[in-house]
Amino acid sequence: MRTGITLAEARRLVLDDAAPLPAERMPAEGALGRVLAEPVASPRTLPPADVSAMDGYALRAEDVAGASGEGPVALPVAFEVRAGGGAPRRLGPGEAARIFTGAPVPDGADTVVRQEDTEAAEGRVAVRVAPPRGEHVRPAGEDVREGDVVLPPGTRLGPPQLGMLASLGRTRVAVHRRPRVAILSGGDELVEPDARDLSGGRIVSSNGIALAAQCREAGAEAVDLGIARDTPQDLERAVRAGLFADLLVSSAGVSVGDHDHVRPVLEKLGCHLVFWGVRIKPGYPVVFGRFEGAGPRVFGLPGNPVSAMVTFEQLVRPLLLRLAGHAHLHRPILEARLGETLTKAAGRMHLVRVVLEREAEGFVARPTGTQSSGVLRSMTLAHGLLVFPAEAERLDAGAAVRVQLLDPDVLAPPEAGF
Ligand code: AMP
Ligand code: MG
Repeated sequence: MRTGITLAEARRLVLDDAAPLPAERMPAEGALGRVLAEPVASPRTLPPADVSAMDGYALRAEDVAGASGEGPVALPVAFEVRAGGGAPRRLGPGEAARIFTGAPVPDGADTVVRQEDTEAAEGRVAVRVAPPRGEHVRPAGEDVREGDVVLPPGTRLGPPQLGMLASLGRTRVAVHRRPRVAILSGGDELVEPDARDLSGGRIVSSNGIALAAQCREAGAEAVDLGIARDTPQDLERAVRAGLFADLLVSSAGVSVGDHDHVRPVLEKLGCHLVFWGVRIKPGYPVVFGRFEGAGPRVFGLPGNPVSAMVTFEQLVRPLLLRLAGHAHLHRPILEARLGETLTKAAGRMHLVRVVLEREAEGFVARPTGTQSSGVLRSMTLAHGLLVFPAEAERLDAGAAVRVQLLDPDVLAPPEAGF
């Protein structure tokens, strides 16, 4: 087991041998946010035929080559073609067909003139423009050609991709399975959120709720196993209950206290511990392990609510995204100016909870207040985590800093701006 490693090493150890979970087939309409596990090739050409992009008249461009506002060219209207319909026959030279948006352009025609550029009367249409050949015609295959791989494996399915699947006639797709996470909270002091008696040092367990929400936000399924007592027996019972999952995330009990039983219990059950201790603040006492064979990967996160959430962000979330097949595993980084001078001792990277404010020259990052890892409120305020590098001891007000963005809404302007 490695101890006291950097965040970058820990991330590498977590992600290095993690591959996307196997595929499952599901209805495409329910696959929002999933990642494709197969290439999707088109069985058809779209649009299947040349179609009109306008309401107007289909004709041959050469028949109205000399037309203008002063000298319109009149053509007989031979027939009408509606969206969803077809032409009764080929359009002859010197003829026009009434046509509507989305209707197939009849054979013999090569161009559509907008209704606004014409005048119709008594079975004839006077055309006031000389359009270039092909105007207002959407050619067959403009969107997709039969056999095109339209969506490669690894594509994240958002609204446009679901729309595309529908237009290809794909009602079922193979996507990576969503990771299943079992969440466990450990501590004799913990009570459920509906408890009213907080005497005797009882503390409401918030980690189970917050960590499950983080899992779900990352597209995983979360099962809250509840609270385990600080005894090896109860912890063992709870860990066994989580062995079905892809990932077991427990919080608290991973320090070096007399009642921190997580590590020995995991080892007793056959979990290979990969590392313990990551040189970041908040969140040093993190353990990561793996059950050989079919068992889950395991994280033992620190109990302090901020440490639990911050270490989840750094190590658990990227793993969940990788397991679900995503290509982008990390939060965006925003460059900002530091609003006030920060100091610390060298040795551990600090992830400083900051509020971001848009000012004339860009974003300014200011700490949310006390950086104690028990202050959950700071997480409700933080837009991001400022990266205060391990060996740095001082960052001056005004310095350029990097902020890992937790709340992308902070980038949203107050007005649309265009
Ligand atoms: P531990 O990691 O067990 O030393 O716990 C560190 C701190 O986190 C203690 O103050 C615990 O009371 C607190 N804590 C542990 N688990 C939870 C939880 N599920 N919800 C909120 N606070 C917790
Ligand atoms: Mg504890």
